[in-house]
Amino acid sequence: MKRARKRVLVTGGAGFLGSHLCERLLAEGEEVICLDNFFTGSRDNIRHLLPHPHFEVIRHDVTQPIQLEVDEIYNLACPASPVHYQHNPVQTVRTSVHGAINLLDLAKRLGARILQASTSEVYGDPTLHPQPESYRGSVNPIGIRACYDEGKRCAETLFFDYHRQDGVSIRVARIFNTYGPRMHPNDGRVVSNFVVQALRGQPITLYGDGRQTRSFCYVDDLVEGLVRLMRAPEGVTGPVNLGNPAEFTIAALAEEVARQTGSRAGVQHRPLPQDDPMQRCPDIGQARLLLGWQPHVPLEQGLRRTIAYFADLLGVEPLRLVEGGGSSRAAAR
Ligand code: NAD
Ligand code: UDP
Repeated sequence: MKRARKRVLVTGGAGFLGSHLCERLLAEGEEVICLDNFFTGSRDNIRHLLPHPHFEVIRHDVTQPIQLEVDEIYNLACPASPVHYQHNPVQTVRTSVHGAINLLDLAKRLGARILQASTSEVYGDPTLHPQPESYRGSVNPIGIRACYDEGKRCAETLFFDYHRQDGVSIRVARIFNTYGPRMHPNDGRVVSNFVVQALRGQPITLYGDGRQTRSFCYVDDLVEGLVRLMRAPEGVTGPVNLGNPAEFTIAALAEEVARQTGSRAGVQHRPLPQDDPMQRCPDIGQARLLLGWQPHVPLEQGLRRTIAYFADLLGVEPLRLVEGGGSSRAAAR
């Protein structure tokens, strides 16, 4: 029997991206099952959704099979920050690989469409710039980032093999660095680290000389891209790059965070971690063409909202007044 509203499974739904995705799908009238083992996710991220009549939470680890009745699956379960995914690298590989197999088996049994949250890390430390989907990457298979990079690469392989072998309807999104409210304050990623340090009046920890680049996508833009990819016509499998092509050095990011927070604590240099990619910037031609998608929130604006979130979380007021006449905290409300 066909359900009146679509029932959607979001694995990793209590995480940073997952919680925003659950919120968006519920707002559109879908029924959402959030599945999470709460390794890096938190109940706080989804607390406001708990009273919703069409929202359900399941504590489960994707490395174990599960039987559910759903129409669509977004597979986001996997720690995303280097600190977290390197904490237990074997479990990270298991999450990507066993998780993909378990969820693809479920999608196959149900005839459900399934989207994989893959990553720009499949390109490793790229030798081609910006990175199009056709670029096969430059990953060190035995380095400390490999548990994540190779796990995600293998998950992509599994998605395409289930598609070719069993006709499973798949979508693969290669997500580039995304930031925004509900990032974990201690997960070690650059935006949350810099903002939290600046708000606490601590020096900003710049790894290496800060000339390495990243391209930062605001969470709302990214969620829009994921939803469009899931809903794109049959035959659109991806992989599709989703990210903001505006590229910044990490030193420039540190300056902007210091400017917006009014931090005068300066910068503290630390060694560059092993295999840290020197540059990263998405070619989003495919996303524009197939999904009519492009990001709209510039870094300056997204950072203002993110700083407001962390200021609230930490109970501090950023010192500086930003454009718009109020404190950055007030500006985001
Ligand atoms: P996150 O760490 O906030 O969220 C991951 C969620 O998955 C958490 O809620 C965590 O508890 C859950 N999880 C981890 N292992 C699990 C397991 N074995 N079983 C069930 N749940 C598990 O990270 P995020 O930034 O929200 O990332 C979400 C997804 O997007 C990840 O798959 C990540 O690889 C991908 N991605 C994110 C970015 C980014 O910049 N945020 C970039 C590229 C790819
Ligand atoms: N980085 C930094 N200081 C920090 C955290 C990260 O300079 O406190 C750098 C890191 O070396 C990398 C970039 O910022 O070059 C992005 O790091 P992140 O961990 O956010 O993501 P990823 O390396 O996976 O893109």
